[in-house]
Amino acid sequence: MILGALEAGGTKMVCAVGNEKGEIFDQVSIPTTDPGETIPKILAYFADKDPEALGVASFGPIDPDPESETYGYILSTPKISWQNYDLLGNLKKSLGIPMGFDTDVNGSLLGEVTYGSAKGLSDAVYITIGTGIGGGVMSGGKLLHGMLHSELGHIRLTPRPDDTYRGKCPFHGTCFEGLAAGPAIEERWGRKAFELADRDEVWELEAYYIAQALSDLILILSPKKIILGGGVMHQEQLFPLIRKKVKEELNGYLDTALLRDMDHYIVPSALNDNQGILGCLKLAFDARTTLPLPNRSLISSSAESSFSSFS
Ligand code: ADP
Ligand code: ZN
Repeated sequence: MILGALEAGGTKMVCAVGNEKGEIFDQVSIPTTDPGETIPKILAYFADKDPEALGVASFGPIDPDPESETYGYILSTPKISWQNYDLLGNLKKSLGIPMGFDTDVNGSLLGEVTYGSAKGLSDAVYITIGTGIGGGVMSGGKLLHGMLHSELGHIRLTPRPDDTYRGKCPFHGTCFEGLAAGPAIEERWGRKAFELADRDEVWELEAYYIAQALSDLILILSPKKIILGGGVMHQEQLFPLIRKKVKEELNGYLDTALLRDMDHYIVPSALNDNQGILGCLKLAFDARTTLPLPNRSLISSSAESSFSSFS
């Protein structure tokens, strides 16, 4: 079976073909400029690959509700030419194959749950800490959407008493992203984040904020695993610091076996930066086996079981 994957990012569009076992046969990266230039290149890539279905995981905010009139649209992004753009509709018009659609971070989480660090888990969170901060949530075996989709990167944090930085988020100042994404690190310390690798105080403070956010997410969502990805998490010294501080934040509350084994509870991706594309393959697989409403819920559950027999 040939499945298509499109990881639609604000700087690049990664297009790939693979199969339901998570094997990637071919992959290219196309710069994200404006839709008039970028979409034809994506269509040209898939035109001769003949995939049965396409999974699309996109930067956002997006509309992931199949019953909404703007399903498949990119909504109020700061990237003007992509604002209110019917991404899925334009792809469908030309390719005419079944398509699955979700946020970039839900895509990465789906990759991890299907093939990676959280394989087989029903409840997990994936957070990327890079140019921005975003998070995908799976709860009870379903990717969480709700009203739109979660925006974990913008939850409010309490600044550490000695931290006078005003925060970088244009909406909230000192939210999670405003305090802890790559650009915030760079503005606060005046250097590129990777150049600060040996400055312990930088990563102490970074871990303080990440741990504060994770503690809230643990209390609200009760995930069985948290996967951290994105450029900033290349600083691997963050992992032990974050695990220690999450324990301190929870202060003995929630004494579960999973939380006692912190090394396996808060983990990096296991998929070498392919988690997004692999999640798209799973989205494509599910789209292929999903019939139109009203039979969707019936068919999705049987698709679920036939998929797990492959993995
Ligand atoms: P994006 O979020 O744009 O998809 P990344 O996940 O690579 O891309 O995140 C880019 C951000 O991560 C930048 O702010 C950069 O400074 C930071 N970053 C990238 N590599 C490293 C590194 N090795 N150590 C610390 N920060 C890094
Ligand atoms: Zn914010």
